[in-house]
Amino acid sequence: MAKDFIVYLDLPTHFHPPIRQVWLICLIFAHTPYDTGLKQFRKMSTIIYPSPVFGPVHSRRLGISLGINLMPADGKICTFDCIYCECGFNKDHRTKTPHPSREAVARALEAKLKEMQRQNVHPDVLTFAGNGEPTSHPHFAEIIDDTIRLRDEYCPKAKISVLSNSTFIHRPKIHEALSKVDNNILKLDTIDPAYINKVDRPAQPSYDVNRIIAGIKAFKGQAIVQTMFLKGTTEDGTDVDNTSEAFVAPWLEAVREIAPREVMIYTIDRETPDQFLRKAAPEELNAIRDRVIALGIPCTASY
Ligand code: SF4
Repeated sequence: MAKDFIVYLDLPTHFHPPIRQVWLICLIFAHTPYDTGLKQFRKMSTIIYPSPVFGPVHSRRLGISLGINLMPADGKICTFDCIYCECGFNKDHRTKTPHPSREAVARALEAKLKEMQRQNVHPDVLTFAGNGEPTSHPHFAEIIDDTIRLRDEYCPKAKISVLSNSTFIHRPKIHEALSKVDNNILKLDTIDPAYINKVDRPAQPSYDVNRIIAGIKAFKGQAIVQTMFLKGTTEDGTDVDNTSEAFVAPWLEAVREIAPREVMIYTIDRETPDQFLRKAAPEELNAIRDRVIALGIPCTASY
């Protein structure tokens, strides 16, 4: 006997904020919770995305966004392990399958774009995001080239967005690939190394925030900086509030130095794997937003 589930899919917290505000309501018909893994999703309130293509997601502000997930469909692989990640902690979602190949991504994307064309549905944006860091895919650069080709063929008006945690932007091939996309959205939650180790938790001990800042700056105004502001504590009681002047002032200085095309600030929106995190207040985000705008840099706040 089929069993019905209504699942509210939100996007990982590093997704383009306007996309995150959209709740995608999926009616899923499954034989048992165990068949689909939905039991785990519901219990942990985290989400693992289909791969390599998912959606489209309909957004009032962005329009129709088709997701491209370069990670395996059975778990999460990320160079960060953010305590607010809506895919959950890395350790809880080990993958057993490989990344989708370049060819599989192109095939799935082309098939979806053809299907949408037949339905007279035209994506406004093709968004690289999902269960981890897209630029960690060994063929990320080639996949961007394939995506541009397919976009030009099937939906020339659509923008291509990449949501990245910035880990690999110093690699020439990744820099070049990200330079080709319409929305190169790069995470910079703070410039405090201790905070980064507490909240973003980079997997590489060599992670150096100054190198990340230099890497974003190297896009010469093409990149969009995305920053999470939050409050509360970790599960062991460590304060993770990054809305105070001690965090905001040096971050603003880095933003001024980077001079990005735009800044997007946001806060947690859904339940997080670390249960004691709290949202930053709208007025706090608005005040930070206004300080970015005062630097002459467009900025949006989502909460
Ligand atoms: S950077 Fe990685 S761990 Fe952090 S929110 Fe994004 S997918 Fe999750």
